[in-house]
Amino acid sequence: MAGMRFLMKFGGTSVADAGSISRVTDIVRSCRESGNEVAVVVSAQRGVTDQLISLAAEIAGSSDDRAIEPFITSLRVRHMKVLEEAARDQIRNAKPAIESLLKNLENIFSAVHNLREVTPRSQDYIITFGERLNAVVVSAVFRQNGIPSSVLDGCEAGILTTSQHGEAMALPESESKIQERILPLLPCEVPVIMGFMGCTKEGIVTTLGRSGSDYSASIIGAGIDADEIWIWTDVDGIMTSDPRLIDDARVLDSVSYLEVMELSYFGAKVMHPRSIEPAMKKNILVRVKNTFNPGHPGTCIVRDERHDSRVVKAITYIENVAAININGAQMIGRPGVAKSIFSALAEDEINVMMISQGSSEANISLIIEENQAAMAKEALTPLVNQGIVREVTIDCKVCAVAVVGAGMAGARGTGGRIFTALGRAGINVRMISQGSSEVNISFVVGQPDGPRAVRVIHDEFRLSEECDD
Ligand code: ADP
Ligand code: ASP
Ligand code: MG
Repeated sequence: MAGMRFLMKFGGTSVADAGSISRVTDIVRSCRESGNEVAVVVSAQRGVTDQLISLAAEIAGSSDDRAIEPFITSLRVRHMKVLEEAARDQIRNAKPAIESLLKNLENIFSAVHNLREVTPRSQDYIITFGERLNAVVVSAVFRQNGIPSSVLDGCEAGILTTSQHGEAMALPESESKIQERILPLLPCEVPVIMGFMGCTKEGIVTTLGRSGSDYSASIIGAGIDADEIWIWTDVDGIMTSDPRLIDDARVLDSVSYLEVMELSYFGAKVMHPRSIEPAMKKNILVRVKNTFNPGHPGTCIVRDERHDSRVVKAITYIENVAAININGAQMIGRPGVAKSIFSALAEDEINVMMISQGSSEANISLIIEENQAAMAKEALTPLVNQGIVREVTIDCKVCAVAVVGAGMAGARGTGGRIFTALGRAGINVRMISQGSSEVNISFVVGQPDGPRAVRVIHDEFRLSEECDD
């Protein structure tokens, strides 16, 4: 693999402490010593982003600000400990950067407390501090081990985004900026880029959504025309299901861009849902690998579906969803009802994840994120008042399951097999939807049935076995 260009992203567990950051350093050094160029994107240390989010909410809502100081101290201890254990000679350089970040963070927390308000903009700025601190630490460990390295925040790296705080998307202009900023560095060093963040054209900091460092990796990887993008995490690759749920889930050798998009969209935590698109546009191979087992080949994500004889490849489920049922005979044969429904939801930026319409047209069911349920009800109430629909009911005790596999396109009987197996297990299916891409059949069951539904289908298609079914 000599002479290639890699973008490597290391997730929170891979950079959680001195031991894991030393593993990361070995991986990067050996890749570089084989004559390759490497750019690195890092996440916050495991758990730090969650802590930042909860402290911001806590101090905005309380008259007590005593939690700020111990939190800042805990961040200092955690990050300095890594420097002491793995980058002793770099402390002189790195410590002032850490202290200045901590001072800045403390001031912002105090401002949030004084105002008793955390706006989307200030929240976004606050939650980037996990990445900010960690990039300084990782880059210092690299230098300690003889790898020349500097630190860039998402904005300095060239990621320009929309202004949707908390869910910002990369703008096309990012590509040339990334080239301009990163490419000149690669022959001489390993830039460590803070994941999860970018900025608007006006320079306001934004974040790319939870788990957004995967998306950063893909944006930067595409920007620098990387030969491959490697997503380093704490499992051997993309598996047939969440290994925390299915103990005999198996690592997949290869999956297609579309399959991963469907899996991540429906909750598979292993990748951020938007992280495939930039790589896909440039046809860049993405590999998911285990920092703690680097010898394992991991999973390749490629354009072609590599039609193995397996029809179903993986199953995922998402718990925090709500079903909206829209009923009313008024809808029958009346053009434009669906348009009114979707426009009302779109105006309030409510994302519809699944749609199903009864053949009688008297019912439309939608799946949305649970935290948008109340907003959706409000958005749709005017349609009831105007007599366009009769009633709107919302059920939050549901979950959506997605069965994914490129081979399902055109394979007869897969749906039958899925729903027969669920029926045999006594699981009641409330709604079914087949994605237009045909690599996914998704359905909705009562929340308590979700994990069992995944298990039943995993067994039905014998996904834990190496051989084909
Ligand atoms: P990172 O911090 O490296 O970004 P994440 O915790 O975001 O890691 O994602 C990795 C985790 O995703 C794994 O530890 C695993 O528990 C979970 N996961 C869920 N679904 C899958 C799947 N289909 N394949 C692999 N891992 C999965
Ligand atoms: N640190 C961010 C999060 O926890 C981004 C990431 O880890 O990818 O969501
Ligand atoms: Mg992640």
